[in-house]
Amino acid sequence: HFSKTAQSTSDVFKTLPCNTLFAKFARGELRPNVVYEDDHVLAFHDISPQAPVHILLIPKQLAVGRIQDIDVSDAGCSSELGRLLGAVPHVARAAGISEAGFRLVINQGPDAQQTINYLHIHLLGGRQLTWPPG
Ligand code: C5P
Repeated sequence: HFSKTAQSTSDVFKTLPCNTLFAKFARGELRPNVVYEDDHVLAFHDISPQAPVHILLIPKQLAVGRIQDIDVSDAGCSSELGRLLGAVPHVARAAGISEAGFRLVINQGPDAQQTINYLHIHLLGGRQLTWPPG
């Protein structure tokens, strides 16, 4: 069960987070190319990689569509967000880029070209990344 479900208010993202593709990944209804998994977090290869390493991390027990909807006064939400970030070191080590470095990205809303309405962190690396991003 999701500990929290938040609905987007944006016209662009009308789909409930629990109906999105990544929610189906989180619930195990569909299986992406998984690189790391525990009870709280699923990490998988992005289907359209923008760098030699491009992995997405999603919470398995927290359905949040927009980062504006996170509520850290909710202990469950807070805990799941901590688990999500806490999985990053494991995933970076598994990908072999822990020492070289990497970038974490959360695209939020139209200006950031968010396409999936379910909280996910992009982990990008394996090459020299440029700044600022496009
Ligand atoms: O942050 P944003 O919502 O734009 O990112 C969604 C990401 O999900 C994209 O990088 C896209 O390539 C990835 N994706 C995926 N598998 C799918 C559909 C989208 O990895 N089946």
